[in-house]
Amino acid sequence: MSEGRVALVTGASRGIGRATALRLSRDGFTVVINYNGSEEAALKVKEEIENNCGKALCIKCDVSDPVSCEAMFKELSEGIGAPDVLVNNAGITKDGLLVSMSEEDFSRVVDINLKGAFHCMKLAAKYMMKKRYGRIINISSVSGILGNAGQANYSASKAGIIGLTKSAARELAGRGITVNAVAPGFVTSDMTDALSEKVKEAVTQQIPKKRFGEPSEIAHAVSFLAEEESGYITGQVLCVDGGMAM
Ligand code: NAP
Repeated sequence: MSEGRVALVTGASRGIGRATALRLSRDGFTVVINYNGSEEAALKVKEEIENNCGKALCIKCDVSDPVSCEAMFKELSEGIGAPDVLVNNAGITKDGLLVSMSEEDFSRVVDINLKGAFHCMKLAAKYMMKKRYGRIINISSVSGILGNAGQANYSASKAGIIGLTKSAARELAGRGITVNAVAPGFVTSDMTDALSEKVKEAVTQQIPKKRFGEPSEIAHAVSFLAEEESGYITGQVLCVDGGMAM
């Protein structure tokens, strides 16, 4: 069903993005693996996809930089084709309490997590509108829904993703383009490996499923929203969080 279609996953060198790239390749997409710093890891994802008879391409791009994003989309549109599916997954944390959070740490998180998605959506939508087809999936977080102490910058960026998703969904619905968000709970990755064992235990107690999620479980939700048959679902936030935000 997805043969010949292109899916761009931002931040696909590691964690949830990597799992999503592998899953979308299994679904038949040609996958564009965007990375910023981890070239070696991105090349490994490409190799894994090719070893399973899939097609993939790696592109370095800092999604917080609009010029870098423009260059990425230009390279794609002149090469394998502009993406039919865009997964805005690239994200970082720079945790700290509100009263001691620097303006720089607030801005960097918003620039990558929220503005990065904006830059890529804007560029992707232009091509998708011409094709009258597209699937945009933005990775939010339960922190954007519930808030989280120590994550004012991150929660604001992830709540912003939800507003961005819903507004774009309304603008693009008539053009065959759906825009949805997936809001993971706590998922095993480099991002959560940085948490202390004490914090991990305390968080686990707040999860009805009593465990962290796996990147493949987030990828599964993305895969569902990326399907052609999901065309009547738009402007939604799908929580994949073991019941945390119900
Ligand atoms: P991760 O393992 O730390 O991976 C982050 C990815 O983002 C990497 O591939 C990294 O690429 C990329 N990235 C960072 N800055 C970038 C930039 N400026 N331009 C392009 N790519 C950039 O994180 P993860 O846990 O998989 O998280 C993925 C997404 O899920 C994020 O948006 C995160 O906020 C969200 N999320 C995660 C959790 C969780 O518990 N893990 C929960 C809710 C939501 P390079 O290394 O190549 O720079």
